[in-house]
Amino acid sequence: MNHKRTAGIIGAGIAGMAAAIRLANKGYQVEIFEANQYAGGKLSEIEKDGYRFDAGPSLFTLPELVEELFLLSGEKPEDHFQYIRLPVTCHYFYEDGTVLKAFADHYELAQEIASKTTEKKETVLKALQRSAALYESLSDLFMKKSLHRWQTYLHPKALKAYQHLHRLDFFRTMHQANRQLFQDRRVVQLFDRYATYNGSDPYQTPATMNIIPHLEYNRGAFFPTEGMYAITKSLQQLAQRLGVVFHFQTKVDKIIYERGRVKGLRAHGETQMFDLIVSNMDVVNTYNKLLPDFPPPEKLLQQPKSSSALIFYWGIKNKFPQLDLHNIFFSKNYFAEFNHIFRQKDVFEDSTVYLNITSKYKPDDAPANSENWFTMINVPNNTGQDWDYIITCARENILSKLSRILKQEIASLIEVEEILDPRLIEQKTFSSLGALYGNSSNNKYAAFLRHANFSRKLKNLYFCGGSVHPGGGIPLCLLSAKIATDQIPAVMG
Ligand SMILES: Cc1cc2nc3c(=O)[nH]c(=O)nc-3n(C[C@H](O)[C@H](O)[C@H](O)COP(=O)(O)OP(=O)(O)OC[C@H]3O[C@@H](n4cnc5c(N)ncnc54)[C@H](O)[C@@H]3O)c2cc1C
Repeated sequence: MNHKRTAGIIGAGIAGMAAAIRLANKGYQVEIFEANQYAGGKLSEIEKDGYRFDAGPSLFTLPELVEELFLLSGEKPEDHFQYIRLPVTCHYFYEDGTVLKAFADHYELAQEIASKTTEKKETVLKALQRSAALYESLSDLFMKKSLHRWQTYLHPKALKAYQHLHRLDFFRTMHQANRQLFQDRRVVQLFDRYATYNGSDPYQTPATMNIIPHLEYNRGAFFPTEGMYAITKSLQQLAQRLGVVFHFQTKVDKIIYERGRVKGLRAHGETQMFDLIVSNMDVVNTYNKLLPDFPPPEKLLQQPKSSSALIFYWGIKNKFPQLDLHNIFFSKNYFAEFNHIFRQKDVFEDSTVYLNITSKYKPDDAPANSENWFTMINVPNNTGQDWDYIITCARENILSKLSRILKQEIASLIEVEEILDPRLIEQKTFSSLGALYGNSSNNKYAAFLRHANFSRKLKNLYFCGGSVHPGGGIPLCLLSAKIATDQIPAVMG
């Protein structure tokens, strides 16, 4: 009898779908079990009264990782997924009235910063070179391979990386490195901000994380022409074309194993057998909820989690020509803001506000003469704070900050409102503590303390998504699916 090899995937997040596509291409018959009635997890969308909002991620980097999935499947990416490169990555607003446009072009960026602050052009260019050098030394080893297989450490690319270990800047914090390089505190703040791209604290995360600006400035920031949700939609459709079966509103309750080997899963009281299982569920909850009798890797699961977010999706009945797709309104006191998020576990009254407006590039996301504002602040992960109270205060503080800086009263322009807080993020995606990016990167060992993309103790159990190696964010989640499925042999014949 010819038994088709089968794979069960828990969760249709971006990594779960990428793993499904890769396994279908390896000859597996793949089924995805998703608790929600939609795919994408954090990468979903909200529609309300003529407005459309991307619900989660808004910054898109390394689009080639999405394209790779189409190419692997023998399809032309541009037939299914289109995007543009942004000429300006962000508009930065400071309380002292400074406004900076972060041009994608290095020289324009350096010129803009030099003309509006006391920083020299050469220093900005040097920072971008530093970032590129870090990426060059680190990405092959830390982002593209399993850190949990000895072969990785003998790979020629790893051997090359060892020669550059001195460049990796493990022993200073990101903030210390930026303060030593730049003299203008506004520029330090701009470069410190990149710690938030993986939910970390610039005053704790190692300077190695100065790798992140490379993605935005050297590799580019992009926007899918149909909005971020197009990433989810196009991958779901690709998976379906490859024969992957999606079971929506189907929460997996248990992973079934026998004598150290995974056998299947249980959902809606029914057991289904699979040759292998890939969990895209947060790894802490995979162990705690789906494998309650199996001894968990305590130390890895107890690592501190990344920050979370509080988001107000506002339909605004006006247009603001001074705003772009990505906008940042900086806090006056960045140190206090992060101290509140990571040490006091509460929310600073003057939080940095991130404002994303997709209707700038996709006008049908808002009615005529209106804009769809995704208004977000970084907040601590959910440890039982009084979120209703925090939301009330934060809403008032954000409105007062935006009204002050934009010189226009905002509250009366809001005609649609939806709110997402850490409790809801946890509920909707089963992310431990509602963290956006799994573990934080607030210490130099963080990369080695993420769970592997496979289980050492349960054969045929694999992991992908933001809570495991190499970490959170769309590009890393897509890479996690690649690393996980690289461990799985293709079906022969
Ligand atoms: C507000 C916000 C802003 C962000 N901004 C950015 C950004 O600008 N750029 C960027 O790159 N990244 C950003 N991120 C991070 C990025 O969204 C995530 O890292 C990424 O989408 C996580 O994907 P994932 O595959 O780990 O799965 P998730 O999106 O966490 O989805 C997991 C899925 O598994 C399902 N599931 C879990 N358990 C079960 C179960 N037992 N049974 C069935 N289904 C289950 C869940 O329902 C969910 O659909 C942001 C995230 C948020 C929330």
